[in-house]
Amino acid sequence: MANDDEASALREALVGVVAREVHDPRVLDAMRVVPRHRFVPEHPLSDAYADHPLPIGYGATISQPTVVGLMSEALALCGDERILEIGTGSGYQSAVLSRLAGEVDTVEVIPALAERARSALADLGCGNVHVHVGDGWSGLPSRAPFDRIVVTAAPEHLPEALAAQLAEGGLLVVPVGPQTRDQRLERHQRRGGRLVREDLGAVRFVPMVRSESRS
Ligand code: SAH
Repeated sequence: MANDDEASALREALVGVVAREVHDPRVLDAMRVVPRHRFVPEHPLSDAYADHPLPIGYGATISQPTVVGLMSEALALCGDERILEIGTGSGYQSAVLSRLAGEVDTVEVIPALAERARSALADLGCGNVHVHVGDGWSGLPSRAPFDRIVVTAAPEHLPEALAAQLAEGGLLVVPVGPQTRDQRLERHQRRGGRLVREDLGAVRFVPMVRSESRS
């Protein structure tokens, strides 16, 4: 179909832009394959394949492709990991991760977004992604521990439940900051029962809400 050809040409060009900052070939290959436009059907193709975030309703955004690439690369995935993602949003990051790891559990606090993402992921055959409606501050204790945890909304501090659900040797990537302009991307590794933190630079994510504040 003409639309598919156009989308794959735009995607190839986008991966060229992402590759200025992201070097992991597996991540770039995954982004070359996952049709980002299917996660933002309300936006024109040219916007779906531009390197910037887009609104997806409910105050949420699909992250900038370069940021999706950097987060995925920071997770240092080999292929068989069990991942927990907090903040499903459109489901695009989950779809990229589904090609890089074994299983992906993703938690979204807004039921309508979770439902839309679930349907887009099912249409694309991402059978190893499981979308859950819930509050990411609690993680997903029923499926813990996880080899990797990635948070795509920013908490003001690292949620204790997430730290507790990280397997020994595992990595947790999270934007942390009290306000949008002061967020830092952090990577934590669990080593011998403690977490070792690394700063990966400044970022800008929507805040991670607490579900009681939503009532
Ligand atoms: N990874 C997404 C980007 C999502 S934007 C993508 O690829 O499209 C951040 C998402 O986090 C929003 O959908 C928002 O509703 C969700 N979110 C915010 N606070 C949350 C919480 N406490 N638990 C789960 N999801 C949360």
